[in-house]
Amino acid sequence: MFKAIVLDRHDEQFSASLRDLEEHELSDFDVTLRVEYSSLNYKDALAITNRGPVVRRWPMVPGIDGAGVVEHSAHPEFSAGDRVILNGWGAGEQHWGCLAERARLKGEWLVPLPEELDTRTAMAVGTAGYTAMLCVQALERHRVRPDDGEILVTGASGGVGSVAISVLAGRGFRVVASTGRAAEADYLKRIGAAEVIDRALLSAPGKPLGKERWAGVVDSVGSHTLVNACATTRYGGVVTACGLAQGMDLPGTVAPFILRGVSLVGIDSVMAPHAVRLGAWQQLSRELDRERLAAITHEIPLAATLDAAASLLAGGVRGRTVVNTRA
Ligand code: NDP
Repeated sequence: MFKAIVLDRHDEQFSASLRDLEEHELSDFDVTLRVEYSSLNYKDALAITNRGPVVRRWPMVPGIDGAGVVEHSAHPEFSAGDRVILNGWGAGEQHWGCLAERARLKGEWLVPLPEELDTRTAMAVGTAGYTAMLCVQALERHRVRPDDGEILVTGASGGVGSVAISVLAGRGFRVVASTGRAAEADYLKRIGAAEVIDRALLSAPGKPLGKERWAGVVDSVGSHTLVNACATTRYGGVVTACGLAQGMDLPGTVAPFILRGVSLVGIDSVMAPHAVRLGAWQQLSRELDRERLAAITHEIPLAATLDAAASLLAGGVRGRTVVNTRA
């Protein structure tokens, strides 16, 4: 028997609870994982509160992230005792995820835990942090350099935003953090922001083009914020788009792309190929400043996940939430 968060729906009645499950209820994938830590991401919060169409079958164990120890493996690359990370691949959406003490997963989804990391640190990074690194790598691939100018990070106090700020500052970029929480300005500066701006400057409908400012953007917010970020990006600059915290819409014009040569780069972490994941995790394990990561992270027990999910969507959670599945 093991403990898990279980989401269920019967006759349009939704329920979310901490329950005991039996091992035989797990799927028949080839690796059984003793989950040590999971994490709470925006998508998990949508699933747990039933606020978005995340869950594709019922009942569902949420948790798009997990890190722990392999208990049994029929996959050639993993043996009992190996420490691994899972991010995405439909966990917590189409297959049971890792907000649980046990998970059964496909070996091909797993990334070996880099030597420099422990399972808690990996989940402090989690999907949000790994996605932030995919954004930073996209800026790098498009040759955005620290001396090109400032980088705008939107949704700055959130998980993606916080890790993006830390990684970019570590690489020598001047980072401007956009937030709706003025009270978090000191926190954002502590983790690497050079300047903090009010997100209201970006979140309302704007002009097709504005004053050129950003050499690059990491946007986890979408909607008008993403449109305004593009409209104020410098000639030849690069905007990475990974999220929709403000909205899924993109109510803008092509002006930044056809008049300023701005590039808009989409970022997906869920189905990213194995080699891309390995590269992102290797860079994260080498680059992440542990003190900044500690400042970004707080830990909760599995039982606190239900309340934390509602709080995250209400804007009450800062940085990253690690879930200790054994507490
Ligand atoms: P968080 O909830 O931790 O952070 C989101 C942040 O967005 C908030 O902290 C807030 O920052 C800002 N925000 C919230 N609501 C609004 C709003 N109405 N208008 C403007 N800003 C707002 O979530 P994550 O960082 O985990 O995820 C952020 C987004 O990225 C989500 O949409 C998520 O689905 C997406 N995502 C996508 C991935 C991919 O593979 N493409 C992977 C991971 C995440 P502040 O208070 O500082 O303003």
